[in-house]
Amino acid sequence: MTFEYVIIGAGYAGSVLAERIASQMGKKVLLIERRNHIGGNCHDVKDDNNILVHKYGPHIFHTDNKKVWDYLSLFTQWDNYHHEVLAMVDGKKVPIPFNLNTLYEVFPKTLAKKIEVKLLAKYEYNTKVPILELKKADDPELKMLADFIYEKVFAHYTAKQWGMKPEEIDQEVTARVPVFIGRDNRYFNDKYQALPRAGFTRMFERMLDHPNIKLMLNTDFKDVCALKDNRFLLMGHEFKGTVIFTGCVDELFGYEFGPLPYRTINMVFETVDTERYQEAATINYPFNYDYLRITEFKYLHPCRSPRTTILKEYPAEYKPGVNIPYYPVFTDECRASYAKYLERAEKVSGLLLVGRLAEYKYYDMDDMVARALEVFDTRIANVCAAN
Ligand code: UDP
Repeated sequence: MTFEYVIIGAGYAGSVLAERIASQMGKKVLLIERRNHIGGNCHDVKDDNNILVHKYGPHIFHTDNKKVWDYLSLFTQWDNYHHEVLAMVDGKKVPIPFNLNTLYEVFPKTLAKKIEVKLLAKYEYNTKVPILELKKADDPELKMLADFIYEKVFAHYTAKQWGMKPEEIDQEVTARVPVFIGRDNRYFNDKYQALPRAGFTRMFERMLDHPNIKLMLNTDFKDVCALKDNRFLLMGHEFKGTVIFTGCVDELFGYEFGPLPYRTINMVFETVDTERYQEAATINYPFNYDYLRITEFKYLHPCRSPRTTILKEYPAEYKPGVNIPYYPVFTDECRASYAKYLERAEKVSGLLLVGRLAEYKYYDMDDMVARALEVFDTRIANVCAAN
């Protein structure tokens, strides 16, 4: 096979682009993946209890983007799934995002009512307010509420996860879990919320099942590709096609401008000898314990088993080559380092950087698919048509 495209990484970015190039353009793609499986961090597998588990942490699909929903639906059927999360606050498990139901669980009824009236006078019903926004409130009761939520839900959880205060990381990170001025206890409110019926890995298998795609698993890109004088070599020969790189951009350039910081999570799975372990799919522990949260996979993928599988997520310092880069650390300094890599990458002919690691962005799954489809339309299909 002679390839016109080499894609490094078989997560969402790489797999969607491989699928589009193969099926829509009829071009041949070499897809190189370091791990022994496809699907990136969405990879799921049945464990010894016959329970489908997400090896790299819980991945809950949700989107308002019909284009993304329709695209992924080409490769999977779905089971509707609405994620619910509780957080341990003052020894009680309460709904997260913090909402009007949570308000009544943590404060006496008269005080909760007073605060609710003030919230509804200031914000529309069923709207979302980021905690750092609510903190700016002048009203003493709303200020007290904001300080309470900040302290009990965000400050310690964020310190555990990021080693920083909420205001030290990009505001969008904590805005992912806003205070919700409504009574919906679900973690997400998107129009489409579901999990692939046969799992994410099966969905990726269907995506990549095309004669134009050659998949090489267990292959480090550095063993087959090299950069020389700003050109790519494939197996020692100059590669004149397009290289789509979805891995860590700092690794691609030999950490020339230093490693980009990430936070990692040590995923610890446990089998518990009971049918049901906890009251909700995920329980967050802002204060107690070294782990952040516990997820019980039977909620995500219901099945009959006398046992249950839980996952404890322990945040940790990321070390390149040792553990997995999960969360890019957004500070101005880190963004400045990334900008240097981006400038460096622009000098390499035929190179496209796409994906959470290559773009150093905290993409949700749907945003990643949308981005890959956009790159296909704007940087690949129309460039090819113009030539
Ligand atoms: N967060 C928090 N307390 C919580 C849940 C979230 O402080 O109970 C903050 C924390 O900084 C976290 C961010 O909100 O990194 C985003 O949370 P999300 O659940 O979206 O993280 P993910 O599921 O992507 O790990």
